[in-house]
Amino acid sequence: MTGSDPYAALGVRRRINAAGALTRLGGAVMAPEVVEAMAAASRASVDIGELQDAASRRIAQATGAEAGMVTTGAAAALTLAAAASIARWDVAKMAALPHADAFPRDILVPRTQRTGYAHALAASGARLVDIGHNDRGTGAGVRGLEAWEIETALSPSVVAVFFSANATSLADLPTAVSVCKAHGIPLIVDAAAQLPPKENLRRFIAMGADLVAFSGGKALGGPQASGFLTGRRDLIASALLQQLDMDVAPDTWTPPKLVDRANLRGVPHHGIGRGFKAGKEEIVGLLTALDRFLEADDAAANAALQTRLEAIAASLNGFDVALVPAAKTGRVPVLEIAVRDALTISARLQKGDPPVHLSERHAARGVLTLDPQVLLPEHDAPLAAALRAGLQSV
Ligand SMILES: *Cc1c(COP(=O)(O)O)cnc(C)c1O
Repeated sequence: MTGSDPYAALGVRRRINAAGALTRLGGAVMAPEVVEAMAAASRASVDIGELQDAASRRIAQATGAEAGMVTTGAAAALTLAAAASIARWDVAKMAALPHADAFPRDILVPRTQRTGYAHALAASGARLVDIGHNDRGTGAGVRGLEAWEIETALSPSVVAVFFSANATSLADLPTAVSVCKAHGIPLIVDAAAQLPPKENLRRFIAMGADLVAFSGGKALGGPQASGFLTGRRDLIASALLQQLDMDVAPDTWTPPKLVDRANLRGVPHHGIGRGFKAGKEEIVGLLTALDRFLEADDAAANAALQTRLEAIAASLNGFDVALVPAAKTGRVPVLEIAVRDALTISARLQKGDPPVHLSERHAARGVLTLDPQVLLPEHDAPLAAALRAGLQSV
């Protein structure tokens, strides 16, 4: 399977991705600089704990947190965050997970924050406890998360509170922070897809979150199977211990600097995260992508995307197309295309030649969204042609 087109060799079709950095479409398209860093990393042996220490320093600089670690994605980061909240420095608990019935393991999940990714928390052995109401989200009322809803659910079996960050939920984050701080409970924030803007790398830590999970394979432009967890040093150390290869001799083991061995009653065995180890290539690739992301000029990048979208919109003359600028989406500009039967059209575009993917996130209100986050410039023209044909034939 050598040669320049591994997909052709496998008989797998390339797709026009105007849906965003979706995992099921392979996530980000990596810059050559990231690919080269990963290739160079692959040609040497290093101590992974030492490499994660270096990653911790780099991620801490970028986020303003005490520490960080590279994971195999935000979902893995959430599982490790939950495992760290349950086990802390206790090697016996690390050894027991995901079987945690014998000790505190409850994570409070406000109903306003319930997402499909909560499963990643439960995978650690945590028990998820739903709390509160979702009046605002369901359109039934005006209220979001309230402090008393968290406080009444607190008990000695609660090890953490979960919060899924997005533009609408953000208003409720200070409430969660203040209750968690007052009671010494870690607050875990899922910020997987909250980039850009790059300010969000620091935002949730600055607001008082204890652990924050980000994806590396979405807007960050890192390897698809990467992400990171950032936050409190002791919790990151516990998470790292539960991810590292621990087939070590206690007499010769050199723990990462993040890990204060005096806090450990013994040397942990392989933990719950051993099955989602971050490789040297992912760690170096993620850090290289993070550097590039920090250096990038978001305003210029969004202006360039907007110019491309304007050209596509112009060629869709006659269809109901609206450009939503980055200032309005909070991330990149998008085109919203109003259609009569969004999912039927989306399915047809996906089956076309070439296959085209638009975001279905607003399909329920009759809108297909052209999200240019990972759209290759050479795909603009064939995309516009496929849309003209696909939208017409309804
Ligand atoms: C994508 C996403 C995840 C999972 O991230 P991975 O890096 O793919 O593991 C978790 N939470 C939210 C809100 C996401 O959008």
